[in-house]
Amino acid sequence: MIRVTIWNENVHDREDDRVKALYPEGLHGAIRDLLKSDDELVITTTTLDAPEHGMPDELLNNTDVLIWWGHVAHEQLPWEIADKVADRVHRGMGFIGLHSAHLSRPFTRLMGTSCSLRWLDDTREHVWCTDPTHPIAKGIPAVFTLEKEEMYGEFFDIPKPDSVVFTGWFSTGNVFRTGCTFSRGHGKVFYFQPGHETNPTFKNEIVGQILRNAVRWAAPQKEIFDEIDCPWETEYIEKKYQK
Ligand code: ZN
Repeated sequence: MIRVTIWNENVHDREDDRVKALYPEGLHGAIRDLLKSDDELVITTTTLDAPEHGMPDELLNNTDVLIWWGHVAHEQLPWEIADKVADRVHRGMGFIGLHSAHLSRPFTRLMGTSCSLRWLDDTREHVWCTDPTHPIAKGIPAVFTLEKEEMYGEFFDIPKPDSVVFTGWFSTGNVFRTGCTFSRGHGKVFYFQPGHETNPTFKNEIVGQILRNAVRWAAPQKEIFDEIDCPWETEYIEKKYQK
C-alpha cells in the first residue's frame, strides 16, 4: 500500500463561488477522486486551516507521497514545516507539486531557485508528451488538450529537471515545461502545471492517469530512512572487516 496525503490550501475552495460550484468538496476532494480508482493507495486529505497547518508530524511521518496544492497563502505555512517536508523528501518521501504550488515553501525549498514564471489566465493548453518512456507517461496520449487552463510560460526558474515528461503549448504561443521530475536525496519530486482552481482540470481523466502514475513513480522504492547515515562509519566497518 502507498500512503498518499493530499494537502490543499483550501482558500479559494471556501471563498470563491466559481470554485465552490466546480469543486464542492474542494480541490483536495477532486484530486482524491482522481486517485481512488487505484486501490493500492491509502489516501488522506488535509488543509492549511486544519491543526498544525494541516501537516502535523504524525501525518507527515506516515506519508509516502505528499501532493501539494497552494496559491494565495504560501506564506502562512511556517518555514519550519517546509523544512520538515524537504527533510522527509531527502529521506525518501515522494512530493508532487501541482499548479501554483511552484511558489509553495516546500517546493521552493526543494528547488533552491525562485521558481518564477510568466502567467496569463484563460488560455487553451496542448500538453505534449516529451518523454514517452517515462513511467509517468504510461498510457498517456502523445498530446491532449485542456480547453481552459492558465498559461504558465518560460522562463521557469527551476534547476534543470531530470526529465521533462510533458511540455505545454498555449494558445498565447508560450511554451512551458509542464511536467518535470527531480531527484532530491532519496526522494522523487514531480511538478505538474495544469490545475488552476476555476478550471475543470481535476475532472479530466487523462490528468487523473498522470497523477496516479506520478504517485506510483514517486513512492519510495525502499523504506524511508530514519536518518541518512554513512555505511562506512565505524560500526559497519567493525562488523564487516574486523575479525
Ligand atoms: Zn492558477
